[in-house]
Amino acid sequence: MKTYTPMIQQYLKIKAEVPDAFLFFRLGDFYEMFFDDALRAARELEITLTARDGGVEEKIPMCGVPHHSASGYIEQLIEKGFKVAICEQTEDPKLTKGVVKREIVQMITPGTVMESKSLLEKENHYLAAITGFKDGSFSIAYLDLTTGESKVTMIETAIEAVNELVNIKPREVVLAPDEDPLIEKGLKERNIHSLSSMESCHREASFDSVLKELKQEKLVISMCRLLHYVSSTQKRSLDHLQAASSYQIDSYLRMDPNSKRNLELSETIRGNGKKGSLVWLLDETMTAMGARMLRRWIDRPLVKTKQINERLSIVQGLMDSYFERESLRESLKEVYDLERLAGRVAFGNVSPRDLVQLKKSLQQVPVIKETLREMDHAESVELAQTLDPCTELLAILESSIMEQPPLTIKEGNFIKDGFNDDLDQFRDASRNGKTWIAELEQKERKKTGIRSLKIGYNRIFGYYIEITKANLGALQDGMYERRQTLTNAERFITPELKEKEELILQAQERSIELEYRLFLEIRETVKKEIPRLQKLALEISRLDVLQCFATISENRHYVRPSFNTERKIDIIDGRHPVVEKVMDAQEYVPNDCEMNPDCEMLLITGPNMSGKSTYMRQVALTAILAQIGCYVPAAQANLPIFDRIFTRIGAADDLVSGQSTFMVEMLEAQHAIANATQDSLILFDEIGRGTSTYDGMALAQAIIEHVHNHIGAKTLFSTHYHELVDLSHQLHSLTNVHVAAAEQDGHVVFLHKIKQGPADKSYGIHVAQLADLPDTLINRANELLAGFEAVPNPKKETVIKEEQEIGQLSLFKEPKNKKGKKINSVQHEILKLNVLEMTPLEALNELYRVQKVAKNLVEK
Ligand code: ADP
Ligand code: MG
Repeated sequence: MKTYTPMIQQYLKIKAEVPDAFLFFRLGDFYEMFFDDALRAARELEITLTARDGGVEEKIPMCGVPHHSASGYIEQLIEKGFKVAICEQTEDPKLTKGVVKREIVQMITPGTVMESKSLLEKENHYLAAITGFKDGSFSIAYLDLTTGESKVTMIETAIEAVNELVNIKPREVVLAPDEDPLIEKGLKERNIHSLSSMESCHREASFDSVLKELKQEKLVISMCRLLHYVSSTQKRSLDHLQAASSYQIDSYLRMDPNSKRNLELSETIRGNGKKGSLVWLLDETMTAMGARMLRRWIDRPLVKTKQINERLSIVQGLMDSYFERESLRESLKEVYDLERLAGRVAFGNVSPRDLVQLKKSLQQVPVIKETLREMDHAESVELAQTLDPCTELLAILESSIMEQPPLTIKEGNFIKDGFNDDLDQFRDASRNGKTWIAELEQKERKKTGIRSLKIGYNRIFGYYIEITKANLGALQDGMYERRQTLTNAERFITPELKEKEELILQAQERSIELEYRLFLEIRETVKKEIPRLQKLALEISRLDVLQCFATISENRHYVRPSFNTERKIDIIDGRHPVVEKVMDAQEYVPNDCEMNPDCEMLLITGPNMSGKSTYMRQVALTAILAQIGCYVPAAQANLPIFDRIFTRIGAADDLVSGQSTFMVEMLEAQHAIANATQDSLILFDEIGRGTSTYDGMALAQAIIEHVHNHIGAKTLFSTHYHELVDLSHQLHSLTNVHVAAAEQDGHVVFLHKIKQGPADKSYGIHVAQLADLPDTLINRANELLAGFEAVPNPKKETVIKEEQEIGQLSLFKEPKNKKGKKINSVQHEILKLNVLEMTPLEALNELYRVQKVAKNLVEK
């Protein structure tokens, strides 16, 4: 190090504190980066790389961004998952000799950004921490720094812990340096890459307000780790963090991340976008806080009938009162994001405009209360009582901040007249002074007879009298003091003018200072009210989500579900909420679903595209809607309370994940089988599809038998293995249903109607026909089908026969390569394979088949 210049030495020392972050090193008006940081930043931010002398022979790579436009660059880096450390000069360079002191004043990381375009207003922005214990259990803590919400939970296994983290969707996860590598691996596999390390997890007095409700030591440890991380990165007030509350994952309807994805709760499988998801359908919220709560509710449906019915009753009340609901919606529209406003107050980056938003929001509370009372519905009256209008705070805000304050607080002019006596006096002085000056202009014009004489102001010379050159002759000598000469005018001052000027400027300066002080006082007052504001924010969010449920339920003709404890599903004329909405012109065909302890399983058959998957999902979505307290798309619905929902899709349907799909399919099936109870709902959609026919069919059957005999969960199993329908003879609580299709003039017409009994045909060829495959090909397929159907125990023999034929066929045909040279049939078979698209099992099957061809060749 000894040859580096002192500044570079300082840089290296500070950089060593934050090896995993970009160090933004303040040098005058720039933030500079050096060495590797510079090389990487130049690439990531597309800025120019330069070099600088650093005392050693080789120049040091360097790049920088102007400090006033740094936020955009920081945002870019954060969005890419990087961290940024801001290092400022902490002494005045003018007053120091040698190298100015510098310090890291803040770390910005993906989980701790407070302001950024990536901060979506309708989504929470969580930072999580996890700690593993010797007994194999884990505690997870997470918080949203922008809203102050914080939660903790205990999890029993590593897999569940990773699942729970994926459910929380944190922007960043904090781990102990020696955490079980399984966790890191699991998170990375699930695309959570922003991981940070924090060793400290001891309790500190400053954490007490967050920790006060936590009883279990293990929970405290993760929360402390998280808080240590936050305070080491933010280096400022965490006053707005709410007391952490603990929850248990099984006090909610549990769904693992894949099930949620398959049900397209918050984004669609294909587009990964929100459009087409359940959140998209439901979101009739009027506030950003409500939208965030809606997502949280969809992520965690309830399992206690009482709680569910509480929500449903309010929804019902809101359904019954159309006009009040509409005026509620109007009022909610005026309510700003109280949660994030409170966060900004605590962080100290709140502006006068934010306070005006706060005021406007609070002004709506009495209106909302009145509307709720007018509804005259037991629950809504109760709700009206709980809403806290924060009257004193509102009074302060109303009397203090102007309606349309400027963006910055540096120039003053945002505190109302009459709020503070001193301020009023300063303002009077400056206003009087200005009137005096305006009068002076008139006076001097008269005195000199120069009508174009004017009084102006600039920062350097202050107030002056300006006279054009043409008029200079009219001036008497010594009348004014000359100050400045312009091309076609002269500027003058008088002692009187300067005196007034001083008074005005002083008054202005003082009032700016005073306004700033008053602003800080008001901010402190608001800060003290943060817990009340947060409570109010939660109540308003809840009201917003419930009115959203009422609105959507009325618009889309949903009904209030009822619940039973006899494990019965009784849905009449149920619909798929999203498919129904996106099908504009066509009619959605409603379907019933009846299941009870005598019928635990439905085996659903029917042609491709007939509506099997849609039907299964509509049952699951109906259950979820009911358990979040919303009405459901049906004519009538009576449901059990489900503890878990599992959704598994046969790999062939799952085009996106790009993983070894059959393995995933089996892992997921395993997960469902290992965790389902008789109160669970399982959807198995074409399970066994990702492998060869017999394999798949055998697995499907074994899975059905297992679930039927050992678990007893309500299960919907769709399959294209027609052979499985015979299982209903052996398995007493399995029922065959099918999606009806009709044949008209040799074409299939999908009726989308669920009917009792198995489907009688698979209609695959007709679907191929609909897809416009060539007629000759369709005819050939029909011919083959007739052939297969004529053989007893058809498929197995057919396939075996097929394999032998292929071997022989190839021999007769003597395949050739492109140049017309003969190749043997084994070579031909191998060349035909599309290796990159095969699953391992397919590959094995193919190998087996090709080996047979080879044997044939040898024996011949
Ligand atoms: P499958 O799983 O049997 O191949 P899907 O459930 O994917 O079929 O349904 C295919 C298409 O049929 C859906 O995209 C939808 O447009 C339509 N569909 C499904 N169910 C219905 C219904 N009940 N009413 C109207 N259209 C439906
Ligand atoms: Mg399907």
